[in-house]
Amino acid sequence: MTEPRPQPYEALPEDWDRALAIVAHPDDLEYGAAAAVARWTRQGKHVTYCMVTSGEAGIDAIEPDKCRPLREAEQIESARIVGVDTVEFLGHPDGVIEYGLPLRRDLSRVVRRHRPDIVITGNFRDTWGGIALNQADHIATGRAVVDAVRDAGNRWVFPELIDEGHQPWGGVRAVWAAGSPDAGHAVDTTEDFDLGVRSLEAHGAYLAGLGPNGMADPREFLEGMGRMAGTRLGTRFAVSFEVYPMG
Ligand SMILES: [Zn+2]
Repeated sequence: MTEPRPQPYEALPEDWDRALAIVAHPDDLEYGAAAAVARWTRQGKHVTYCMVTSGEAGIDAIEPDKCRPLREAEQIESARIVGVDTVEFLGHPDGVIEYGLPLRRDLSRVVRRHRPDIVITGNFRDTWGGIALNQADHIATGRAVVDAVRDAGNRWVFPELIDEGHQPWGGVRAVWAAGSPDAGHAVDTTEDFDLGVRSLEAHGAYLAGLGPNGMADPREFLEGMGRMAGTRLGTRFAVSFEVYPMG
């Protein structure tokens, strides 16, 4: 029996200026999406990062209060490598992010402040494809991101944000979820692949904390994923995204 041939990916549009990337943890963007960010900042686009947590529960051997500043510093350096100079941390608790109004309000505020054309997030489907289960923080964050983008455009939702001086922003054209098993789009990252690798390597303490069962080689890992997506886009390397139209 032969496997059905995967559908080709469609290239993502690049006729936009400002993107805001919102993910649950430091390192979430570096498992692929960062190479796309490097491409976009090289084109002169403006990209901002927002982390819902500081990843403080991510290293077994380091307690959260010691871990938090380490992981924030690694994320800031990782962002710098791909041309992103603003990284915000919302301070929700790592590992136990709750989908709900407080998170939607916080994300809505971030969207209104940065006024992006595109919002990038991570895969928030139940799995990564097959039986590889997604993690609760990723699912809660992605769901809240799409809701908060709509909330940001409605002046009657979270009216306290207007009192804080944040006018509605309904200009987000789409939310793009990186690494979704239902991706239909992708971006060519062949030229920016090395920056993507360096941005993942910047999470040194985290990668070391994964121990012997963790990631042997960031380059090899990203090459495998990049090639798979590239095959479907017709390029050497690519990063895939599921597109949720919001306009
Ligand atoms: Zn994560």
